[in-house]
Amino acid sequence: MRVGIGYDSHRLIEGRDLILGGVRIPSEKGLLGHSDADVLCHAITDAVIGAMGLGDIGRHFPDTDPQWKDASSIHLLKRIIDISRMNGYEVCWIDSSIIAEQPKLSPYIEDMKTALSESGIPSGVINIKVKTNEGMGFIGRGEGIAVYAVCLLKRIGQSI
Ligand code: MG
Repeated sequence: MRVGIGYDSHRLIEGRDLILGGVRIPSEKGLLGHSDADVLCHAITDAVIGAMGLGDIGRHFPDTDPQWKDASSIHLLKRIIDISRMNGYEVCWIDSSIIAEQPKLSPYIEDMKTALSESGIPSGVINIKVKTNEGMGFIGRGEGIAVYAVCLLKRIGQSI
């Protein structure tokens, strides 16, 4: 068994789509980033990479590399899940917390789990929590969204 933690944050700006967990969510602002800026996907990806002990998301998908510009983050996560399988690991559990002042995200949780499962992680082993920052700090002012995620990996076929 291996555990990994992931954290990510992105700035909210006008004129960008808000993509979270592979789902396009109606919002006046979207997240700024080199890829689609899917902050949930990035935190989960970093948690999986951390559990494998293979560095971080920037090492695998540098934002200086034009091939990742506007890339689908679900696709990036799938590449990491494929690497975990090649290394003999499968995802046992993902837990995550999205911290966003708005929009209200709870109606989209099941859609996010379904979209994330396109990466190869079964939706039944993904948990997504949503909360606000009670109006405090950059999240509270609506300047950005942050996500924490943890991943538990087990050897393929290993019982827990
Ligand atoms: Mg990111």
